[in-house]
Amino acid sequence: MERIDDLLREMEAYARDKEVPILTEAARPVFLRTVREAAPRRILELGTAIGYSALLALRELPDAEIVTIERDAVIVEAARSFLCRAGMAARASVVVGAAEKLLPTISGNFDLVFIDAAKSRYPDFWLGVQPLLAPRAVVVADNVLFRGLVEGDGSEEWPKHSYRTMVLQLREYLRLVRSAPGFRTEIFPEGDGMAVSWRDE
Ligand code: SAH
Ligand code: MG
Repeated sequence: MERIDDLLREMEAYARDKEVPILTEAARPVFLRTVREAAPRRILELGTAIGYSALLALRELPDAEIVTIERDAVIVEAARSFLCRAGMAARASVVVGAAEKLLPTISGNFDLVFIDAAKSRYPDFWLGVQPLLAPRAVVVADNVLFRGLVEGDGSEEWPKHSYRTMVLQLREYLRLVRSAPGFRTEIFPEGDGMAVSWRDE
């Protein structure tokens, strides 16, 4: 088993080289603070990439386990290898496939859900994870302010065509979480914007 800090540095370099969009340095403290505060036993992640955010969370939580979904079968191999080298293989189950297809096949209860996959599907992901949430749970979503195009004072340009669907779906995500009964949501501007939605029942 290798030192986790060394592995995390190696993963950061790997992500930089191969342009894998792992949690940005600015967003990491928000993610870690939420993970510590929620102290989840079971975590569900949509969008594993190389397993960086999964490893960050597992490092904080010695008793937790994570189910993490990734549709890219090639990058999954990198994730499994990193998590194995970190000694986390027994606590991390990396599932290959599209999250929207797999969600209905997964059973709850998850204390923390991290949404970090296709941004145009965030509203579907929000609805899809509801039956999987523990009574007290937190749903964290990365990139919700996508390059400042999602919310603002109205002066921002109409997003260019390739981003339009994504931006409209992220706006819908924020509308959904803000109006969801029983949840209180905070939006942190760090990095690409992170929405943290707590349910305390
Ligand atoms: N959470 C990771 C980064 C994830 S990057 C970290 O911070 O370390 C987003 C990942 O989501 C990419 O690897 C991409 O292949 C994956 N993805 C995109 N759409 C998906 C979908 N519909 N289902 C599952 N994974 C998806
Ligand atoms: Mg992200």
